[in-house]
Amino acid sequence: MPMDIVRIVSVKKETQNVKTIYFEWESAEKAQPGQFVMVWIPGVDEIPLSLSNVGSKIASVTVKKVGNGTAALHQMNVGDMIGIRGPYGRSFAVTGDKVLIVAGGVGMAPILPLIREVCSKGCNVTVVAGFKSSDEIIFRDYLESSPKALGIKVYLCTEDGSLGIKGTALEVARKILKNEVFDCVYVCGKETLIRGVFDESIRKGIEIQASLERYMRCGVGLCGSCVLGEYLVCRDGPVFDTEMLKNVVDELGNFKRDECGRKTKVL
Ligand SMILES: Cc1cc2nc3c(=O)[nH]c(=O)nc-3n(C[C@H](O)[C@H](O)[C@H](O)COP(=O)(O)OP(=O)(O)OC[C@H]3O[C@@H](n4cnc5c(N)ncnc54)[C@H](O)[C@@H]3O)c2cc1C
Repeated sequence: MPMDIVRIVSVKKETQNVKTIYFEWESAEKAQPGQFVMVWIPGVDEIPLSLSNVGSKIASVTVKKVGNGTAALHQMNVGDMIGIRGPYGRSFAVTGDKVLIVAGGVGMAPILPLIREVCSKGCNVTVVAGFKSSDEIIFRDYLESSPKALGIKVYLCTEDGSLGIKGTALEVARKILKNEVFDCVYVCGKETLIRGVFDESIRKGIEIQASLERYMRCGVGLCGSCVLGEYLVCRDGPVFDTEMLKNVVDELGNFKRDECGRKTKVL
């Protein structure tokens, strides 16, 4: 797929190390929640990022600074140009009427368009959004205003208790799953969170869809860098459903592969 060169139209600082970068991109109109793009940062690298806004000509990515590529993206300003390939991958599928959505940290990025989608379909929506502390909360205005504006339940939690419920997203999700039944659970965040929510959902017999990450280079199923069991995350994911997750249960939350293809522990 060819690369589109696009212009950054706005930048929002979400936290000390997370920014949302908005750009004009026609293809965003047809992109679906959960899909990702390969973002080319001229002279630096090309990296996979989830779309945090879809359905209009203004798309966005919400990016945490972790290394060279993401740091360079954080340096970019309105008017700067980046390259975009995509949208790629399998999106979230809306199934059922009552849904639980669980996200941790920057895992909220692909979850934001999903919340918009399930709300537009009239679902009964419960969201658990977990962060380390209050100063790491992203999309804070949206999360705080949506119970009133959209009529959805939002459990905002922080590990240090500096805002909302004290505890991890997994702890809060487990409590909710103990007391309530849902048609589908959606999750994105650290793989230990995904594994915990997967185990709980399977125990309760609830369908689950999880957005996963693996080291990714080409984004289109050619290079094999993002192998996960029998799947390639770029081609078969990044959103995996219950049956697919069961097929990678040995790897899920346990190990991944680094940029050289070596097995490493999931932390
Ligand atoms: C489908 C998908 C969607 C993603 N969506 C988001 C998002 O919405 N927001 C966000 O902040 N991050 C997202 N990531 C992770 C993001 O791609 C990496 O943080 C980024 O590539 C790191 O690049 P770097 O040059 O800054 O760091 P590096 O210095 O290259 O590495 C820092 C860390 O990031 C990991 N990493 C590096 N390159 C990749 C790569 N190409 N793919 C996966 N992991 C990598 C490394 O293993 C290392 O642990 C996503 C990853 C995937 C696969």
